[in-house]
Amino acid sequence: MNETAMRARAAIDLAAVRSNVRALRRRAPGAELMAVVKSDGYGHGAVRCGRAARAAGASWLGTALPEEAFALRAAGDTGRLMCWLWTPGGPWHQAIEQDIDVSVSGLWALREVTVAAQACARPARVQLKVDTGLGRNGCQPADWPELIAAARAAEVAGELTVTGVWSHFACADEPGHPSIPLQLTAFRQALADAAVVGLRPEVRHIANTPALLTLPEAHFDLVRSGIGVYGVSPSPEIGIPEDFGLRPAMTLEASLASVKRVPGGHGVSYGHHYTTPGDTTLALVPLGYADGIPRHASGSGPVLVAGKWRTVAGRIAMDQFVVDLGGDGARPGDPAVLFGPGDRGEPTAEDWARATGTIGYEIVTRIGTRVPRVFLDSEVHDEGVGGQGGRA
Ligand SMILES: *Cc1c(COP(=O)(O)O)cnc(C)c1O
Repeated sequence: MNETAMRARAAIDLAAVRSNVRALRRRAPGAELMAVVKSDGYGHGAVRCGRAARAAGASWLGTALPEEAFALRAAGDTGRLMCWLWTPGGPWHQAIEQDIDVSVSGLWALREVTVAAQACARPARVQLKVDTGLGRNGCQPADWPELIAAARAAEVAGELTVTGVWSHFACADEPGHPSIPLQLTAFRQALADAAVVGLRPEVRHIANTPALLTLPEAHFDLVRSGIGVYGVSPSPEIGIPEDFGLRPAMTLEASLASVKRVPGGHGVSYGHHYTTPGDTTLALVPLGYADGIPRHASGSGPVLVAGKWRTVAGRIAMDQFVVDLGGDGARPGDPAVLFGPGDRGEPTAEDWARATGTIGYEIVTRIGTRVPRVFLDSEVHDEGVGGQGGRA
């Protein structure tokens, strides 16, 4: 495929992924780093980003779904790998055979993984998750004594090894939030309880990217970073990526599909929510909500076209949207850059998050499979195309 002839592409700079992993490791020197590559590496390509993260020293990869972990194994990954979002009847057997660490938050999951381990005739690697206050997955402190006792009994019986005890923050992206010290206290208590029943986990971990960046006391043995690996800030309160030596890895751009002169008073796109204020030039960007461009960015999303920031004019449609060039010239095929690292004057994912009332995580993760991922390496050379129509 000829990149320059593409309708649109998400260019992924693998050198940025590697340098981000190195920057994150420098901020947590006493801990191992898990690069979180769930949801296809937050939309950046899990296999390629996982490989880049490993090359830069991430000793663990993490996914939400077991299927996401299996895809990494199928692509040749052999390192420590964990997945945490299980439902009853899940593929425990496959996870055990593929040496994947599985998260267990309750007795039902402990029972299922133990049965699968017996069938595999080898112990499962289990990481016990405690709910220290997030209120999502994880074992409630009241039920923790029962879970750790049962896990220890299964460990003694040779059915599993408890490789980790872990938890997840609710508000680490809001430094100073009162829940943070409370969660740390609850986590230390859960670790102490586990030690008392004889569990000796290899890794104890609670930190996500914001905690990695701002809370050294939360680093323990392992830090889990997702958004930081891709060079996007967890929240405005944490700061901008550059504050931490991080660089956005994804650049989303398209080739203009049309440029035309129109008179003043011309309605633009469905519903005519925008009307040209006078004679002007309209440019058509061939990306829409089916590609993951939020429809909420209608009238507010920023785009770099012909050297200036433009604003989405009128509604974003399924496949396309319009920008008003205010009389400036451009030609079909010229680039429209929606977001990138920002150093060529383009907006960033954070700018899109602000324009849309969401977070940078959602902006990058929702970019659809119809947009090919093109892997670049600013330290080496272009490496090829992934996503629909390309090789992964
Ligand atoms: C997604 C996720 C992470 C990564 O969070 P970031 O804020 O992107 O670093 C870490 N741990 C768990 C359990 C997650 O679900």
